[in-house]
Amino acid sequence: MLVLESAREAIHMRETNYWLETVREPARGMSGALPESADVAVVGAGFCGLAAARSLAKRGVKAVALEAETLGWGASCRNGGMVLTGLKLPVPTLMARYGRELVQKMYRASLESIDLVEQIVKEEGIECSFSRCGHLEVACKQAHFEAYAEQAARIRREFAHELRIVPKGELRSEIGSDIYFGGMVDETSAGVNPAQYVAGLAKAASRAGACLCDHARVTGVKTERVNGARKFRVETTRGTVTAREVLLASGAYTGSATPALRKKVIPIGSYIIATEVLPPDLARQLSPRNRMIYDSKHFLYYYRLTPDRRMLFGGRAAFFPESDATVRESAELLRQGMVGVYPELREVKVEFVWGGTLDFTFDVMPHSGTLDGMHFGVGFAGHGVAAATWMGTKLAGVICGDADSIPYSQIAFPGAPIGLRAGNTWALPLAGLYYRVLDWLT
Ligand SMILES: Cc1cc2nc3c(=O)[nH]c(=O)nc-3n(C[C@H](O)[C@H](O)[C@H](O)COP(=O)(O)OP(=O)(O)OC[C@H]3O[C@@H](n4cnc5c(N)ncnc54)[C@H](O)[C@@H]3O)c2cc1C
Repeated sequence: MLVLESAREAIHMRETNYWLETVREPARGMSGALPESADVAVVGAGFCGLAAARSLAKRGVKAVALEAETLGWGASCRNGGMVLTGLKLPVPTLMARYGRELVQKMYRASLESIDLVEQIVKEEGIECSFSRCGHLEVACKQAHFEAYAEQAARIRREFAHELRIVPKGELRSEIGSDIYFGGMVDETSAGVNPAQYVAGLAKAASRAGACLCDHARVTGVKTERVNGARKFRVETTRGTVTAREVLLASGAYTGSATPALRKKVIPIGSYIIATEVLPPDLARQLSPRNRMIYDSKHFLYYYRLTPDRRMLFGGRAAFFPESDATVRESAELLRQGMVGVYPELREVKVEFVWGGTLDFTFDVMPHSGTLDGMHFGVGFAGHGVAAATWMGTKLAGVICGDADSIPYSQIAFPGAPIGLRAGNTWALPLAGLYYRVLDWLT
């Protein structure tokens, strides 16, 4: 019986990213020799690097994006496609750390970033199912639900932004599940097909004049002085590019070529399954308003319907990058999680499973600024669809001479506590354990 079951799974389930299957014409990098020089070399071609390259090119700057794999290969093509408002940490924590003024700028940036994605999608005519469907956070405990009212009041007071509380008795209008204690809706958030958005963004950057180079892994960056002026020699597996400025947009995949940034990034694996296409009635019952949904735990589940009505269900964060083995293990664990939320999906086939790596930092904040003279933007965690697009666009402005008004450039960027991550990751599972314990306790 067990053998039959696993054979059935194997026939139907593919260890493949569902979103990539929906891209009719993937954007490709330029072939042939790399340009010898550029004004700006961008390391990494995800949302951050591509948005920066597009914006730089539109301002007449010669930008070369260098991507180790294919365009959008990293987290940008693998995520849940939730274009989310808000900040990862609770507002009181942020206020205590950074003060009201800076946190107001951060929140404003989070709202602006959704508008920016929408504007780019419209301006560039990107077909990526962008939709302002709103997001729903659901409470796993009564105490979590009770905290929502306080959060919503604070967000209205501090940022003039409306969130709607949904008591348990009304939750069926938002989600076809009875396991939660209530919810909170933000109508400003949106959904997108991230791989189609990446492809459109890359094409827009190319059209504007940016040079996008795939399979060009940056192996090292050296500085040199030419006639008194600083230049960077960016060495890649396809040759060397000399540039006046460098922008590091390598996210969770930041590696040994840029050790100062690597030390500050925590790569966190996350996994997603997608079911077969659901009948329209069942899809409507599970998610009547087609929200982007996530729960209130630290190790949270996030889920949504895809534009072709599959249930896409993600979670199972792990304090190490994804691998073939962890992707395989995740399929059944996530399926059990999904059935826990939606028992109706017990017999539904899971057709896709994949994983990706999120870019966390030690203070769970996005950061920007310069390190070793190079610009960087990193730490978008589960908000990168909107936040990395916004950051790439803003950093392009800073490189062009705009005043740096990015709130994340104004906060300290902590590195790893001693021994936690100095090239090794031995203590990260302990951090994972800490958050699991928090989920039991709070
Ligand atoms: C499973 C999963 C689900 C997620 N869900 C959501 C969600 O629903 N909503 C949301 O807002 N966010 C979500 N995120 C987070 C979001 O996807 C990321 O924050 C965002 O994509 C980061 O974009 P980026 O451009 O900074 O980095 P990436 O997209 O990771 O791009 C970095 C690129 O740099 C390249 N690179 C690295 N080193 C080098 C080098 N030396 N030389 C050349 N290239 C290099 C990599 O190959 C990679 O393609 C999710 C992430 C994952 C993994």
